[in-house]
Amino acid sequence: TGRGMTLSDILARWARVTPEAEFVVDATTGERRTYARSHDRITRLATTLAGEGVEPGDRVAVLGLNGVDLLESYIAVLRTGAICVPVNFRLAAQEVAYALVDSGAVVAVADTATADLMAAARDGAPAVRRTITIGGDLEDVLAAADPTYRELAVPDDATAFIMYTSGTTGAPKGAMLTHRNLYLHAFSSTMHLGGPGGPSVWLSGTPLFHIAGVAGFLPSLFAGGTTVIPPSGGFDPEEALTVLERERVTSCFFVPAQWAAICERVGARERDLSALRKCGWGAAPASTGLLRTLSASFPDAEIVSSFGQTECSPVTTTLRGQDAVRKIGSVGTPMINVEVRVVDDDMNDVAPGEVGEIVYRGPLVMSGYWNKPAETAEAFRGGWFHSGDLVRQDPEGYYYVVDRKKDMIISGGENIYCAEVENVLAAHPQVADVALIGVADERWGETPLAVVVPADPADPPTLAALEEHCLAHLARYKRPRRLAVVDALPRNATGKVQKTVLRERADALSETAGR
Ligand code: ATP
Repeated sequence: TGRGMTLSDILARWARVTPEAEFVVDATTGERRTYARSHDRITRLATTLAGEGVEPGDRVAVLGLNGVDLLESYIAVLRTGAICVPVNFRLAAQEVAYALVDSGAVVAVADTATADLMAAARDGAPAVRRTITIGGDLEDVLAAADPTYRELAVPDDATAFIMYTSGTTGAPKGAMLTHRNLYLHAFSSTMHLGGPGGPSVWLSGTPLFHIAGVAGFLPSLFAGGTTVIPPSGGFDPEEALTVLERERVTSCFFVPAQWAAICERVGARERDLSALRKCGWGAAPASTGLLRTLSASFPDAEIVSSFGQTECSPVTTTLRGQDAVRKIGSVGTPMINVEVRVVDDDMNDVAPGEVGEIVYRGPLVMSGYWNKPAETAEAFRGGWFHSGDLVRQDPEGYYYVVDRKKDMIISGGENIYCAEVENVLAAHPQVADVALIGVADERWGETPLAVVVPADPADPPTLAALEEHCLAHLARYKRPRRLAVVDALPRNATGKVQKTVLRERADALSETAGR
């Protein structure tokens, strides 16, 4: 735990070695910045923050849409030794205030799109002394700032980020990720992705406030590569493809819902995607049907899966190369720097083939939840971080995600793993999108309700048709017993279905549901 290399030192190094190499490109504005230019701007922002009294260990909240200045502000915060707290711009003022107060932020960064939200949130967070606004006072602040770079001795076990998990499982908790966690994430990812192998241009379709945005660009930064930042508003697959082509992106990452939209568009016109070597997916389950379409749509690229979670910095297992086809549906095998077990409720290892909870240990795992000792102790019971994800291992050691523990349905004493049933339902031609939830049932305790977005709104599937389809592929007790047809499923920032929202609406959904 000595003085380690911090994430901001790495950028400073490239600014010395390859100052004119492109560090970041804003796909929305077209703005391009070299390592030297970003280094200068980051240094100036860091000295300004220090001048505001920001000290090592203090928290600085950052709330904004994707953009080059937002990314630079993350690194500037780290350069002061302070902890960066990215905040989801889709939150309500009260929720932003929760993050500000819970983290004890002393200074905030916002942008013109989030300035009002930040101002409203600050009413409930009096400890925040100042907001610096991208597109507002930032340029004046930088022009007036001391540009002298001073390397700061930050221990590598110091917290770099507090990441609020998006809350699909309840009240937001701030996962504390250290410089070391993220440094080793970059290292592991680079190892497992086979290194950048030539000039690398990275693009992640996720918002920068999410762990996939925060940690996603680090392997590229470590390699001195270029990070392309797409807009974070409504996702447009045509725009994403245009950026991939124009910027000659070599590695990209999109969540399954984004890939589904991209695959629909990719054949619409001639495009030169010859630079693209790796197509990454993860953060939410993907059906095998979608993964097949993805492989077929990008035959010259390697399909790489990432599985993990915020608390693990975030990637714990990957699947790539030939395995992406041979082991389709699997999330792969563990990366280096993380130990993995699959256990029952008493922490006994379960046999291959059996379902258990995947638990983690090692240097990719967070140091704990900020200010939440009880939740931290609960998550780390027995010395292993409990992910809440239920998985199964095959005899070759490949992992398959079967469900999140809290989403599993228990019907008549039988466990129903949603992912398995959703995968089968997704293959039905009348189904465009589907989520399975458990609803209360007098006889069975809980019974599965399929919430379906029809492929053709004028011709939705019937419950009988879906039951028959399931009976051909699954045990009888797993078939949905109710059906609700909706226009769209509620999804969070990474395209994960918000089952808590569906469960809250279950009564209303069941009313319209066929039996
Ligand atoms: P919360 O922590 O409150 O549940 P969240 O769901 O947004 O919020 P994340 O850290 O963003 O938390 O997501 C981690 C979860 O996403 C994992 O626990 C797992 O259930 C799911 N997940 C991530 N990658 C994959 C994948 N490749 N396949 C299936 N599920 C995945």
